[in-house]
Amino acid sequence: MSEPAPPTDDQLPTDDQLPTDHQLLDLLAALSLEDKVRLLTGASFWTTHTAPGIGLREMVLSDGPAGVRGLGFDERDTSVSLPSGSCLGAAWDVDLAHRFGLALASQARDKGVHVVLGPTLNLHRTPYGGRHFEALSEDPLLTGELGAAIVRGVQAGGVAACPKHYVANDSETDRMTVDVLLDEQPLHEVYLAPFETTVRSEAWLVMSAYNGVNGATMTESPLLDDPLRAEWGFDGVVLSDWTAVRSVESARVGQDLAFPGPESPWTGGALVEAVRDGRVPESAVDDKVLRLLRLAGRVGALDGFGGAPVTADLPDIDAVRRTAHEVALAGAVLLRNDGALPLPTGSTIALIGHSALTARTQGGGSAIVYAEHEISPADGLRAALGDRVSLSLGAIVHEDVRPFAPARMVGGTARCTFLAPDGTVVLEEQRATTQLAWFAPHVAQSERLRIAVDVLPDETGRIELALHLVGSAVVSIDGEVAWSGDLVGEGLDLGGNHRVPGTADIACPVDGEGPTRIVLDWTLPKGRGQFDEHAFLVLGERPDADGDELIAAAAEAARAADVAVVVVGTSARVESEGADRADLRLPGRQDELVEAVLAANPRTVVVVNSGAPVLMPWRERVAAVLLSWFGGQEMGHALADVLTGVREPGGRLPTTWPAVEDDLPVRDVTPIEGRLPYAEGIHLGHRAWLRSERVPAYAFGHGLGYTTWELVNVSLDIGGHGSPTVTASVRNTGERAGKQVVQVYAERADSAYERPVRWLVGFAAVEVGPGECATLRIPVTRRALEVRHDGGWVLEPGAFEFAVGFAADDLPWRGRAALS
Ligand code: BGC
Repeated sequence: MSEPAPPTDDQLPTDDQLPTDHQLLDLLAALSLEDKVRLLTGASFWTTHTAPGIGLREMVLSDGPAGVRGLGFDERDTSVSLPSGSCLGAAWDVDLAHRFGLALASQARDKGVHVVLGPTLNLHRTPYGGRHFEALSEDPLLTGELGAAIVRGVQAGGVAACPKHYVANDSETDRMTVDVLLDEQPLHEVYLAPFETTVRSEAWLVMSAYNGVNGATMTESPLLDDPLRAEWGFDGVVLSDWTAVRSVESARVGQDLAFPGPESPWTGGALVEAVRDGRVPESAVDDKVLRLLRLAGRVGALDGFGGAPVTADLPDIDAVRRTAHEVALAGAVLLRNDGALPLPTGSTIALIGHSALTARTQGGGSAIVYAEHEISPADGLRAALGDRVSLSLGAIVHEDVRPFAPARMVGGTARCTFLAPDGTVVLEEQRATTQLAWFAPHVAQSERLRIAVDVLPDETGRIELALHLVGSAVVSIDGEVAWSGDLVGEGLDLGGNHRVPGTADIACPVDGEGPTRIVLDWTLPKGRGQFDEHAFLVLGERPDADGDELIAAAAEAARAADVAVVVVGTSARVESEGADRADLRLPGRQDELVEAVLAANPRTVVVVNSGAPVLMPWRERVAAVLLSWFGGQEMGHALADVLTGVREPGGRLPTTWPAVEDDLPVRDVTPIEGRLPYAEGIHLGHRAWLRSERVPAYAFGHGLGYTTWELVNVSLDIGGHGSPTVTASVRNTGERAGKQVVQVYAERADSAYERPVRWLVGFAAVEVGPGECATLRIPVTRRALEVRHDGGWVLEPGAFEFAVGFAADDLPWRGRAALS
């Protein structure tokens, strides 16, 4: 029997397929100008408009980079909280970044999310950047390779990724308005480079940033057309950062979708009118809608098309949790170890620090998810070592108000009532937390919010009542007004509002062991545009303790134990979206605490719980320093694994750590007359440290494990396509399995162009058993060696020098190769 003839294009079923451009154009043709313009602004804070006539369904967008929040923003809709960007960056592991993307896709699918707002591809230009924790590294190649792997992972799950924030949103001061001044070379070679790698890996969206570059705010920037579309061939959607679209004119360039909705400068007839009177060509609107429909086709939101195929096995929720744990292990960086780690079997441990009890497992701002649970270092070490672990607070770090634990609330809940101006109830709900956020129309419709909760005293018989919010409020205790006032925060946008709301400490008399009735009446702030739908507050407690006593008690505990483990860290006030850091010191009295503990017990291990570099004046005197970053919900278990030696700390620094602030290559994040020149040009991170000849505390790429290594053999080949491949063999010369990251750097001393002294051009991570050897092939792309010059890329003829090793300051192998 002869084979049946293959079906023609027209006969193919359309389900499980992506629409062709021809089919999308047919759908577009069915829409009026008004219909089309309507689709270009969000329907709500997190959703797109539908067009039932052409089968376009709603798409749900959700932060973010380290977990998928979903439509809810509260404890009733929890997510797996993954480690933050700098932890994933520290893993230097492309396969793991891909698994991270798959984990995001799995969570997105479970929550009905079509677009994940991440990864964050801005760079660690300076550790003062408030969102440093969210970004992957200081290096464009490392960031680009990891970012692209995350995007491939997310999209292999049929979910769209949205790399952000395009471009040069590397600090937070005046982030809505700052105009970053960048020359062609750094713009393309450094800041656009991670976006280029990711877009060429076929990201389905890109988020345009709040800031401007070279005189144009990013939602109106020519960079949206070129290089994004013209040079890189981007066929996806440019989504604005939240409220970043500021004019009708932005519709003339490649800005496709304005968020949040339902209002933007394009709504209310403004864009329709601009098209009618010729200020914006209709072809620009058509192009945007076409892109939006293509996105809908890809994520399965267009009737008749099943969406892009799911090309990977998606992890179930247990496997997502395991990924969170693996990333925390793989990103943990052991900076120094005089043999104190792993902890000796059977030893007693004095675990010390506010961050040991209340760790920061994620950074603040829009990246926040409501975690299923947060395993603190105390939880993790107690689970591993039981009562061999003593706990002390040591020093206050977290000055933020903490919600009441459910066990302290009678019935485990608080009653929240939204009231209209006439006193009628708009919405009432019982909530299991007093840290509360809403993004919903009922907030805008209400005049007041009342929270009523019956609180039991803590074990010391106190309620250290405190409050975070913005606006005017009254607090009553057992029916008597105890406080009223007007609290001012630092900005009303998402990041600012969450990071630095106003704070009030309220004296709370407690009568015996019974509950105290606390009622808050908050007059909701108005006149904030779309943010009128957003409310955020914390009603709870913040500790009030004598600092000297805390330090003395911690030193005493250290003296009584075999080993002291002090967990130090930053607070949400210090490191969050919405503001930059003022300095890099550990907040509060933590340096004093480390010194006191060290004086009491020389076997002092310090764990740093921050998303970005901090100063560690004691670093060369303590027995070991380990970075846990913001390690996600499983952080405490991963930390216990590393401290006890069950697992290897797998991280290498994704960013140079300074010894003192004065040495930092880039310190200034404050615009002058609205402008922030990136005067260092292409010299940032390790490139700048090399040029300045200053010695950092720990170099880019540095990190220790529990075994020893030798670079046994390296060779360099120039393949037929004219780009080099480094082949490196590494031997694990120790007695236990370990991970190593081989790093390849290039130099071009005789260049006719400006070049970094040395720059990263390739890397690979590998796990090797004791006594075994592994051989890695690390391709170096031509782009990594090219220079941006006069609107194009130039591969300079002649020889490059290559250096290979285990960190920017540990490169035992060198060789030369001429490219053609
Ligand atoms: C942030 C974005 C985020 C958006 C939505 C903005 O403030 O800059 O990264 O995706 O809010 O939450």
